[in-house]
Amino acid sequence: MQIFDKKNALIHCLSLLKEKNKHIGFVPTMGVLHKGHQSLVEKSIENNDFTVVSIFVNPTQFNKEEDLKKYPKTLEADLALLKNVGCDFVFIPSVEEIYDQHVVSKSYFFDGIENQMEGEYRTGHFDGVATIVQAFFEIIKPNTSYFGEKDFQQLQVVKKLAEIENLPVDVIGCPIFRENDGLAMSSRNVRLTKEQRAEVPFIYQTLKKAVSLTKIKSVNEIYEFVKNEFATTSLDLEYFTIAEETTLEEVLEINFDEKTRAFIAVNAGTIRLIDNLSI
Ligand code: AMP
Repeated sequence: MQIFDKKNALIHCLSLLKEKNKHIGFVPTMGVLHKGHQSLVEKSIENNDFTVVSIFVNPTQFNKEEDLKKYPKTLEADLALLKNVGCDFVFIPSVEEIYDQHVVSKSYFFDGIENQMEGEYRTGHFDGVATIVQAFFEIIKPNTSYFGEKDFQQLQVVKKLAEIENLPVDVIGCPIFRENDGLAMSSRNVRLTKEQRAEVPFIYQTLKKAVSLTKIKSVNEIYEFVKNEFATTSLDLEYFTIAEETTLEEVLEINFDEKTRAFIAVNAGTIRLIDNLSI
């Protein structure tokens, strides 16, 4: 496994492989790798000749300085995991290497999908995500790139980005990896206190109940149900939304012929957790 911190060295190395028509798979991450990330890397290894994983905590996608500062880092363990699964290249650039002295996002329009849910609660988040993903796509020029459904809205934004910017890359969505108690794996989980960790499986449990209620209750009744459930806990419900999968527009009534999904964001103290489930 080769590790790069300079983009020109990586570009040079990958260009030699592309001359030989090798397929490159790419998995962008912010580190603190867990089995969810691992599943993306394994899929890339299985379906491509070479796999590049980036580890980069992208400052422009954080709307809260505190969240960025507290983002955990476990580089040694991350590299061990990547080596163990058979990753070929790891790209760990500095902020300056990517942004030079201008740590700002580009502005994008993704038909409005960037303004719902995460976009509404984290202003500028998807401009930051799209800026870094486009920058990585332009450096790595992957044939295929893998994103988790854990961040479903991000996956849809990246698909739109590739379409709008004419980037020749296949964007593949991968299923959510969960702990045994249903909690969606997340790098942020390591920051939970013991008490919070014991309480947060409630998020997925409630999500599952809400989805099963779609057969017998109206959308408004389900919203009310979820709100009341969280009122009995010390978790702070930020949003619960049922939306169509492609447009991410909220639905008032569920049409079972269309793909809809329930989305949730919850704060456990200062730790923000998201999850979603197909209906
Ligand atoms: P992050 O390091 O949080 O930026 O995540 C890097 C990639 O891993 C993103 O495409 C995430 O959606 C994906 N990912 C994170 N957690 C999970 C999970 N529990 N299951 C599947 N994919 C995940």
